[in-house]
Amino acid sequence: MNKIKVKDVHHPGVAEEFDRLTVNDIQKLLTKRDQFVDTGCPACHSLNVKSAFNYQGMDYRRCCECELLYVSPAPTEALHLEYVLNSTAMKFWREIANPGMRESRRPMYQERVEYAKKIIQRFKPNSKNCLEVGAGNGEFAQELTNEQIFNEIVVLEPQELTLNMDSIEVITGGFEELESHERTFDVVFAWELIEHILEPDQFLRLVRKVMNSDGIFIISTPNENSVETRTLGTDSSNIIFDHVRLYNPVAITELLSRNGFRVLDISTPGLLDVERLKQHLDKKTDLFSDNPALHFLLMQDDKITAAFQNYLKENLHSSHMRVVATIDGEWKGSKTPVL
Ligand SMILES: [Zn+2]
Repeated sequence: MNKIKVKDVHHPGVAEEFDRLTVNDIQKLLTKRDQFVDTGCPACHSLNVKSAFNYQGMDYRRCCECELLYVSPAPTEALHLEYVLNSTAMKFWREIANPGMRESRRPMYQERVEYAKKIIQRFKPNSKNCLEVGAGNGEFAQELTNEQIFNEIVVLEPQELTLNMDSIEVITGGFEELESHERTFDVVFAWELIEHILEPDQFLRLVRKVMNSDGIFIISTPNENSVETRTLGTDSSNIIFDHVRLYNPVAITELLSRNGFRVLDISTPGLLDVERLKQHLDKKTDLFSDNPALHFLLMQDDKITAAFQNYLKENLHSSHMRVVATIDGEWKGSKTPVL
């Protein structure tokens, strides 16, 4: 497999244009700020929360218990949906940015398939079917068809998606669509989705509903308690609207456990943290002047920086995480308490 570089995932200029359009989109959303709701922690439901910062016009809070970082006051589900459907930034990503990047992003989806194969072999080797929630352009599902793992691959995606592949069944709709589905699955995937969901308990209730009792749920999401994100703060690509809930290993475990899941595995397999930090340092040489140890590490040769990246990966401090969970116990979810 080819080595994945930052430029393959985030092409130069694209992130800047995406940010510019996002700020415009948020300005429109903020005209309805009087309808926003200020809540406690959506992961652990604690009311012990504090203000964190304002970024691109949105206020962020941090939970003092599980350290979840989240947008609050946040738009209601209805306003959020309206934002997603009318977002010029997301339209740009889908129509202009993404097709040109498709080939260079392929190794990323191939790596996800390799990971999924290992996890299925370890936790649910007799898996027959799977559901992918929030399938984007269907890249992962398409890569999955190259492997003889599943008899049935179903993808759920709110945007119209035409794959023209007999082996993949496409359902158009948001995750709420699962309420009316009777089928159950051995494996449910949700790549880079849960950070966009305002009320994760409702999402997890429906995931449970469509999972076989011994099935597995495989998700990925940014890890906010990572050296990259905590150091770069709002300059991190993790902190961007509409990442409305930014989890860490503690917060996601708390959320899943409250919703009747048991975590089987958590990993932060990232390879790009050090490269990203170095890119920021190249642009602004005094960036880490208040953090001489980090500055020192980043200035070392490739062998040492690779060892540092490996350390982050092994100790759950890389900026993305993957979680595997299974159903264990009752769903004890509810609406997030209002402050
Ligand atoms: Zn919390």
